[in-house]
Amino acid sequence: MLVNIGFGNMVNNSRVIAVVNPDTAPIKRLIQDAKDAGRAIDVTCGKRTKSVILTDSDHVILSALQCETLAGRLAGKEEKNKKAEQGRLVIISGPSGSGKSSVLKELFKMTDYKYSVSATTRKARKGETDGVNYYFITKDEFSEKVSNGEMLEYFEYAGNFYGTLKAPVEKMLGEGHTAVLEIEVNGAANVKKIYPGAVMIFLSPPTCGELEKRLRGRKTETEEAIKNRLEAAKKEIERVYEYDYLVLNGPDMQQNAAYNIKRIVDSDQKTEEESAVTPQKAKKFIENYYL
Ligand code: 5GP
Repeated sequence: MLVNIGFGNMVNNSRVIAVVNPDTAPIKRLIQDAKDAGRAIDVTCGKRTKSVILTDSDHVILSALQCETLAGRLAGKEEKNKKAEQGRLVIISGPSGSGKSSVLKELFKMTDYKYSVSATTRKARKGETDGVNYYFITKDEFSEKVSNGEMLEYFEYAGNFYGTLKAPVEKMLGEGHTAVLEIEVNGAANVKKIYPGAVMIFLSPPTCGELEKRLRGRKTETEEAIKNRLEAAKKEIERVYEYDYLVLNGPDMQQNAAYNIKRIVDSDQKTEEESAVTPQKAKKFIENYYL
């Protein structure tokens, strides 16, 4: 039986001798010896090694999945609460007004990624279409969906509820598509718990001045809503550390930002990617944001 050991890499179950934790001294030595002898196979895709698979052919495989996850898969059990990931799941967050929709419009022109249409209790803005931008529903309808377990995640943002519908996302991933969720930071963190392999991208204007200019420029919000969104943005920016990648969207840079997202998703090789979030980069971004 073939078992997915991360990012679609498969191993033959019958050849696995043990799945061990990478953090003990003997295993570290074993990994080093295997690397030196060319017997190490790294399938972490640049993520942290969370388990090491020892095989009967003396190959040592480094995986980004937890030992328990792998042990469960090898024993034929899918882990509880976590879904088998066939297509890629991409989460894009960033302050409201960061130009996410224009960037995504460009992204969908250049890819066949699928957009997950969220449900919201917010009123439709001018130019928005029900079922395309959002499913615009009432608070009662929203609560009913939550109690029926139809939401993958949901959150109250600036006085309105927003939520990702579970069924369409599962369908897209089941059919092997790349599904894109454009959601705020709390919802994103919740989805990541369910889909640990999700690629998390933070999209933001370079500065808060730029964000304010955009929020005012689109003339869709009241003064109070603009203030709410700028306040919310401050908290969101601080959570850039939780993301794998940071993409900046300056004036007239939508196409470039979309291209960066495509490159990131298509490769997801964090170690080699210039947009990968490191603590230093995140710190610098936050400092620059308030300039
Ligand atoms: P807006 O009102 O500007 O369309 O969206 C406000 C915020 O809600 C944005 O940060 C957007 O990413 C987020 N959002 C949109 N859909 C969802 C969703 O389904 N779940 C969560 N948690 N946030 C969402």
